[in-house]
Amino acid sequence: MLVHAGKCRLLLVQGDITQQHVDAIVNAANSRLAGGGGVDGAIHAAGGPDILEDTRRKYPNGCPVGDAVASSAGRLSAGYVIHTVGPVWQGGQSGEAEALASCFRKSLQVAVDLGCKSVAFPAISTGAYGYPRDLAANVSLKAVLDFLKWHRQPDEVRFVLFEEGVFGAFAHSLELLMK
Ligand code: ADP
Repeated sequence: MLVHAGKCRLLLVQGDITQQHVDAIVNAANSRLAGGGGVDGAIHAAGGPDILEDTRRKYPNGCPVGDAVASSAGRLSAGYVIHTVGPVWQGGQSGEAEALASCFRKSLQVAVDLGCKSVAFPAISTGAYGYPRDLAANVSLKAVLDFLKWHRQPDEVRFVLFEEGVFGAFAHSLELLMK
């Protein structure tokens, strides 16, 4: 699914984010930047140990929830991995939506500052962190569309959704937002 936001493109694809040919791949990291399961594990496995080495050296104190930092991408074809830390779902009254939106804004700002023209995101917080997928889709897509509207870059933002159900939630949410 493809929509245009001014001169920028927003794409939803189903697949594995480690296989994407983009300038920056965003990782749903934990605040210690220690690697883990899910998409984080897949990115470190595909990119190799350089990613962890680089993050340990540059960010020994990790990264707070809602923030984003960049590292090398190791063996991945991308130029950078941007690590962002999503909120753990706690019922919705603990600032989760604002933190999730901030992940997208901060990651996109880091990508633009590095000169990236294409950026791939996973569905941050929708796995182990338990954010309901339909709510996450709405917050995530809105945050990206807002950023593209105001900043007119990067040229392309791609959501790479691993699970069919998550892809469906994002596609439905994007249709409603574009009405
Ligand atoms: P979080 O801890 O932020 O919830 P997870 O990695 O557990 O992060 O899950 C976030 C999303 O990433 C989930 O929707 C999960 O299905 C998805 N995911 C897992 N592996 C991949 C992958 N290789 N590429 C893209 N998305 C993935």
